[in-house]
Amino acid sequence: MSDPIADLRAAIGDPALMLETPEETGAYTTDWTKKFNGATPMVLRPRTTADVSRMLAACNELGIKVVPQGGNTGVVGGSTPRGGEVVLSLSRLNTIADYDPASATVVVGAGVVLAAVHEFVAPLEMEFPVDLGARGQCQIGGMLATNAGGNRVLRYGLMREQVRGLEVVLADGTVISNLNRLRKDNSGLDLKQLFVGSEGILGVITQAVLQVRPCPPARRTAMLAMTDRAALPALLAEVRARLPGLSSLEVLPDDVCQYVSDQVPGASMPFTERFPIYALVEEETEAGAAGHDGFVERLSGLFESGLVADAVVAESEAQSAGLWHVREATGEAIVAAGYSHKFDITVPQGEIPEFLDEMEALAATLPGIKPLLFGHLGDGNVHANFVQTPEIADKPFLAEGPALAKAVYGATRARHGSVSAEHGIGTLKRDYLGYSKSPEEISLMRRFKGLLDPNGILNPGVMLD
Ligand SMILES: Cc1cc2nc3c(=O)[nH]c(=O)nc-3n(C[C@H](O)[C@H](O)[C@H](O)COP(=O)(O)OP(=O)(O)OC[C@H]3O[C@@H](n4cnc5c(N)ncnc54)[C@H](O)[C@@H]3O)c2cc1C
Repeated sequence: MSDPIADLRAAIGDPALMLETPEETGAYTTDWTKKFNGATPMVLRPRTTADVSRMLAACNELGIKVVPQGGNTGVVGGSTPRGGEVVLSLSRLNTIADYDPASATVVVGAGVVLAAVHEFVAPLEMEFPVDLGARGQCQIGGMLATNAGGNRVLRYGLMREQVRGLEVVLADGTVISNLNRLRKDNSGLDLKQLFVGSEGILGVITQAVLQVRPCPPARRTAMLAMTDRAALPALLAEVRARLPGLSSLEVLPDDVCQYVSDQVPGASMPFTERFPIYALVEEETEAGAAGHDGFVERLSGLFESGLVADAVVAESEAQSAGLWHVREATGEAIVAAGYSHKFDITVPQGEIPEFLDEMEALAATLPGIKPLLFGHLGDGNVHANFVQTPEIADKPFLAEGPALAKAVYGATRARHGSVSAEHGIGTLKRDYLGYSKSPEEISLMRRFKGLLDPNGILNPGVMLD
């Protein structure tokens, strides 16, 4: 009887490109959240685009299914094997090269970690503006495949807005390479954007041309304390009007801050008094004392309007990092707590207070579940986490998932929101795609999938069933 994995081994030849023992493959089979795991017979570790092409052509020929994997920090169950697929790790495609000052672009391998891009451009006094908590592990290919957002979407947009050129390998091994640096290119369909956010179901990203930008002279951070969460939309409008360099606006309710402070060392709140809700604000300003004083002056107007009860302005980069630490430690604190049902949704910014009320009312009907609701207020993006408390056991809590998802996504749909703001669909949200996309849209997605991957080898079960 034929053994497709033995045939694949023979087709690839070089043992340095394959891992097969459970000791070697183990790290590739569980994701960051520890919620998604499965077995794999082999991890493929290409070094070049040509390797990826050869590997996919062989898998396609042999009918072997493939899970592309970057840093494995995706949180929707798209990067780990589910049914014995081979894992294609892009980690070795980790070259950063060809910085071009005229276009301010850089060519980056899919396996380059986000922090390495930041470090590469910093000495050039340039920056790559996308930043998120997983920066030390998530890779450019994975971030493009999920169209990741992060903390500065408000000012710079998602990954989609940062990419100028892209190289992709299709399921049959065909290389589609368009690594151009052009700001303007209306020569036909913008094919690269089809692959951004496609979560590895249409092709494997191998290289990208990224737009970088001059570093702003300074970034200022403040934590604003509010007494009334119904005033969040008014705060957003006011902050946007007053801070021309606004780059982040995050919202953190008091119970989330307390939870994070309890779980993560050093993530403490800067206020002596407690307030119901806080907003973390970041603005790009001029350098030096003038930049600082201008920031403080613009913020002081928020007190006059009655929207803010207290504020702490970071006086140094260390203090700014301390304020951000509370926001960024939310993920770690939630994982440390045990199992949680996580929802990453968008609703219109003006409806966030009512949506938070609805989520709390929903949690109140589920004994033993603690809601932790926070997110990127400026983008209308709520991270709604329903966390297991010690009073309830794993199994009943796990079983609550589908009912909870229907309730959360039902409330999201009623507000014309999206079931995925920035994390993607993966396997976790696949059955709920119809809450945000029409049957006609889903049918068109299937047609693209059928066209580009007729044998269905790429990331089966992700996004579409
Ligand atoms: C602490 C933490 C904070 C986070 N914060 C944010 C945030 O603020 N904003 C946000 O948007 N996300 C956030 N995320 C999740 C985010 O999706 C990932 O961090 C990142 O975008 C995924 O990159 P990765 O390299 O880890 O991809 P992986 O997890 O390895 O893969 C993600 C998906 O992309 C596919 N894929 C991976 N590489 C490729 C490739 N080269 N070609 C084709 N498909 C590929 C995989 O098959 C999978 O479906 C956070 C995650 C963590 C753990």
